[in-house]
Amino acid sequence: MNTSKPILIIGAGPVGLVAANLLVDEGIPVTLVEASPDLPRDLRASTFHPPTLDMLERFGVTDAMIAQGLICPTWQFRDRTEGAVATFELARIADETNHPYRLQCEQWRLGEMLHARLKEKDLATIRFGTRAVAARQGADGVEVDVVDADGNSETIGGAFVVGSDGIGSVVRKAMGAAFEGQTIPEIFLTVSTTFDFREAMPDVSNISYISDPEEWFVLIRTASVWRALFPVDSSLSDEDVISSGRIERLLQGAHARAEPYEIRHRTAYRVHERVASHYVEGRMLIAGDAAHVNNPLGGMGLNGGIHDAFNLAATLTEVIRGADLATLKRYERQRRKVALDVVQQTTLRNRAMLNTREPAARAAYYADLRRTVADAEAHKTYLMRTSMIQSLRDVAAMA
Ligand SMILES: Cc1cc2nc3c(=O)[nH]c(=O)nc-3n(C[C@H](O)[C@H](O)[C@H](O)COP(=O)(O)OP(=O)(O)OC[C@H]3O[C@@H](n4cnc5c(N)ncnc54)[C@H](O)[C@@H]3O)c2cc1C
Repeated sequence: MNTSKPILIIGAGPVGLVAANLLVDEGIPVTLVEASPDLPRDLRASTFHPPTLDMLERFGVTDAMIAQGLICPTWQFRDRTEGAVATFELARIADETNHPYRLQCEQWRLGEMLHARLKEKDLATIRFGTRAVAARQGADGVEVDVVDADGNSETIGGAFVVGSDGIGSVVRKAMGAAFEGQTIPEIFLTVSTTFDFREAMPDVSNISYISDPEEWFVLIRTASVWRALFPVDSSLSDEDVISSGRIERLLQGAHARAEPYEIRHRTAYRVHERVASHYVEGRMLIAGDAAHVNNPLGGMGLNGGIHDAFNLAATLTEVIRGADLATLKRYERQRRKVALDVVQQTTLRNRAMLNTREPAARAAYYADLRRTVADAEAHKTYLMRTSMIQSLRDVAAMA
């Protein structure tokens, strides 16, 4: 197969950057096209699961991420009034991974490290400020129409196109893939504060999901701040959702204190739970948020996207080295199954555990969690699934 044409990768989010680095490491030229003028530093995902850290080791970035991040050896389900319900200990999977913990490290840090690495590679062309607007394919290649920041249009050619262009993916639309699922009724408000929640809850884990029939929330500690995530009524205006008054009220509700909370960042976003009808159409592929989006309760979206990128790059490399084009469908079978059966199911269940109002159902969830942590085998099985190690092994077995 002709590899002199580059692989066009649309979107320099974490998924596009991982795929681009993997392909150039295999000696395959890539052109990475990014609409933004530079890499954004906004506050998004920050949880890295053990197998993702294992995978990223090959780029030599894991130690730097650990140095800049915060190791979280446990995570917790709590009840807002009763306190800790179940504390999961990642040391129990120490024989399955080099990194038996979750790492809290803002995703932009990984993006910057991967971009710095890619810039050094002769096989990589990186075009910031360039938006893909249409894509199409022929028998032996693809074409993507792009527009630069000054409004100039151009068509670039390649052997394949990878859509890592996020939720609004132009490549997914060009493939004619449906994006079925739902948009969650609430907006998720994420704020970060300098207040140390261990003062209020001495036994709180660095990652804690706090259930409540009226108002659940999530607390996540990073190296410098605590992040709190609250569901907010989606009928409110954008300004109201992130207003200082609302944020202060919500934080005082989480833990009442005499002083006001000092806020460092605030973000509000709509959350979708959707999976594309297909990930591959001839020479067009999608990965990451372009292919699947889910609620952030479990930190699986970014991690699942990075796992896609590893599978996609390996499969594409096989095809470029001579395997049949249809081999790409294996990538779709494997990774779409994970998105549907693991990521969507786990994050939906996490949301249900947090916001279920019916007392008997809440009691049943809690009893189940308590049984799971008390039983060594069940505890480990649960961690293998929620850390996403099991899904990688299961799909490897279904080749
Ligand atoms: C505001 C916000 C907060 C979030 N918070 C959390 C969280 O707390 N926890 C969590 O687990 N997940 C969170 N997420 C989700 C997480 O950030 C994503 O799962 C992750 O970024 C997916 O990576 P990606 O590379 O697939 O897509 P993205 O990170 O979305 O990257 C896509 C890239 O493609 C570029 N692009 C898009 N269209 C085009 C085009 N037509 N041409 C060229 N370039 C294009 C974009 O500029 C972007 O750089 C959040 C997402 C958002 C938007």
